[in-house]
Amino acid sequence: MKRVKIVVGNWKCHKTPSESVEFVKELKSRLQGHTGCEVGVGPTFTALYPVGKELSGSNIALCSQNIFWEKQGAFTGEVAPAMLKDCGVKYTIIGHSERRQYFGETDETVNKRLKASFAEGMSAIVCIGETLAQREAGKTNEVLSTQLKGALADISGADMVSRLVIAYEPVWAIGTGKVATTDQVREAHAHIRAVLNELLTPELGETVRIQYGGSVKPENATEIFAVENVDGGLIGGAALKADSFMAIINAAK
Ligand code: PEP
Repeated sequence: MKRVKIVVGNWKCHKTPSESVEFVKELKSRLQGHTGCEVGVGPTFTALYPVGKELSGSNIALCSQNIFWEKQGAFTGEVAPAMLKDCGVKYTIIGHSERRQYFGETDETVNKRLKASFAEGMSAIVCIGETLAQREAGKTNEVLSTQLKGALADISGADMVSRLVIAYEPVWAIGTGKVATTDQVREAHAHIRAVLNELLTPELGETVRIQYGGSVKPENATEIFAVENVDGGLIGGAALKADSFMAIINAAK
């Protein structure tokens, strides 16, 4: 089964709206005529609208770094699904380990955000991954199964097949410069694939893309993207500069 790789830059809390627009202007021109893998960028909430306008009609997908599950109301500080959709968001990034670690995200809230995303007609990138302590305790597969099943509770097979991307991001490899070995990546992705096959059917489970994330750089991207069941990457630090992001995109082609 041929899955089109997907490379997404998660900008975290970086770049003002004007810096974001300047950046995507450059990216857009460098990606003119680009084919071979899907590309997305995830600016901060305040930059989504102007960046969405700049990307309209381009081959770069707009991604949000989070989504709230209620439609609207008295929820100070939250951003509702229709507001993201109106900015042109195609993918919502959900359950990033920084959200889980610093902002109390749980499998239950990940599941609510995922349902809200799909209900609004957007696709989603669901992040899962173990901490170093969990890996050292031999619990990696258990943690991945729990996070995946929790996130996907009551999600229809049709939505999973048409709108879902999973990002495997070992927490200890995010922003640390420590990259998982290709064996560690292969094992984790194979396990995630097996859980997807179990939740769907082996045939349908094969269609869901699984990105790797965690200190992906131009120097290691080719090796990581060549691992079985790695369908692209979720890129933090190296996505903030056009040269390094472009090099990673080219490695995915
Ligand atoms: C991320 O933010 O999802 C990420 C993988 O960050 P980095 O590439 O900087 O490790």
